[in-house]
Amino acid sequence: MIVTDEIRPRARPNASAGDRAWPYYPELLAKPVPRYTSYPTAAEFGPDFSGDALAAALDMVGELEPISLYLHIPYCQEICWYCGCNTGAANRSTRLAGYLAALKRESELVGARLGGRGRVRRVAFGGGSPNAISPQQFAELVATVEMAFKLDNPVLSVEVDPRGFDADWARTLGKANVSRVSLGVQTFAPRLQAAIGRVQPIDAIRETVSLLRDAGAASINFDLMYGLPGQSDADLTDTLERALELSPDRLAVFGYAHVPHLIPRQRRIDGSALPDGSSRFHQAELAYLFLTQAGYEPIGFDHFARPKDALAIAARRGGLRRNFQGFTEDDAKVLIGLGASAISEFPDRLLQNEKNAGRYRELISEEAFAVARGVWRNEEDRQRGAIIAALLTQGNAVLPGGLDLVSELAALAPFEDAGLLARGERTLRLQPAALPYARSIAAIFDRYRTDSAACFSAAV
Ligand code: SF4
Repeated sequence: MIVTDEIRPRARPNASAGDRAWPYYPELLAKPVPRYTSYPTAAEFGPDFSGDALAAALDMVGELEPISLYLHIPYCQEICWYCGCNTGAANRSTRLAGYLAALKRESELVGARLGGRGRVRRVAFGGGSPNAISPQQFAELVATVEMAFKLDNPVLSVEVDPRGFDADWARTLGKANVSRVSLGVQTFAPRLQAAIGRVQPIDAIRETVSLLRDAGAASINFDLMYGLPGQSDADLTDTLERALELSPDRLAVFGYAHVPHLIPRQRRIDGSALPDGSSRFHQAELAYLFLTQAGYEPIGFDHFARPKDALAIAARRGGLRRNFQGFTEDDAKVLIGLGASAISEFPDRLLQNEKNAGRYRELISEEAFAVARGVWRNEEDRQRGAIIAALLTQGNAVLPGGLDLVSELAALAPFEDAGLLARGERTLRLQPAALPYARSIAAIFDRYRTDSAACFSAAV
């Protein structure tokens, strides 16, 4: 695709509920499927892993190998009812300070094990809400990372809850050279905000965006949701219009996954008011049409970016990747997760820290790495993971010769028959209308998926 300019203001994208970009085949979307932020997925993690596995992986990091860091802050000022994150209320300052002390110590322990090897090119702060801590505490955390690791002009990104954001925070992010910020917006409709337990006036979001721009944030992302209880197409259109008035550089548009049997806090949400599968599908389609008509480029299956945003540039150049933070242009093969429940990724293993913040602190206080679960990735996993990632990020994949894929190719037939997929001898190419089916097609190459997938979300 040739892109010549930034988004030009338009009177208004004219996508409406009746417009169609995708054919709807509910039978091809019937099975819940993973989001594939890794392969194997976290559902395959087992308990036979300890800090030794992390120590050995760190010992294999090369002198100048690119590293990405992720620091998890599992606290929020207010807990949203829909949220599936590992997070708790930030209402006890001693607990929070104790957690941050452990996070800093873990950074120092990992940095010491690396002994100057590796070059950190990205540092992401997520949660939870990193702005549940104070700006001063955040600045101290950044200083710890700078001391503990060898940095190579890293890109810093932070997830922000607009409800607790202020000028002091904006100044702190500016001083730390944070260039990317993701805001949890979800919906601008007040009655839907009340229905999902996240009330935040649009003025708070407008103010947050303005402060962030003044502080030098080059890329601002909005997370939005469709499929919310009682959400109409008109609600979604209104939210998209209001979002574009604030000119985000990126948007991620997620379908709400209602799984109260797995996420007890969702029991407060009225499941009887949820849109049905067909309505969800067409809401995803409406968002796609609206944002692409407004000049955003579709990135993977649920992200959108301005043509000049780094994510869009990477996607056009074939450099889009998928990791635990979703779609990214980060190509580091080593991602080190710090904090409770954080996941580290190495070519041959995925390792997850202890999820419980109290037990995480105990492990770190014993000067031990806090790994509690994980999975090894063998050659077949890597090959299958490459197919899945290529389908989700590029829309096409080359099938390696050494893999036995007879049953997988047979399972693709309904997607081919529906015109969603073109198959060569060893190549697969998703057709443009296959975007909402991408995860379902990719899941065919997941050797761990049987029919069990109650713990995954709807494909759209
Ligand atoms: S602010 Fe974000 S992380 Fe915190 S509870 Fe709400 S959705 Fe979850």
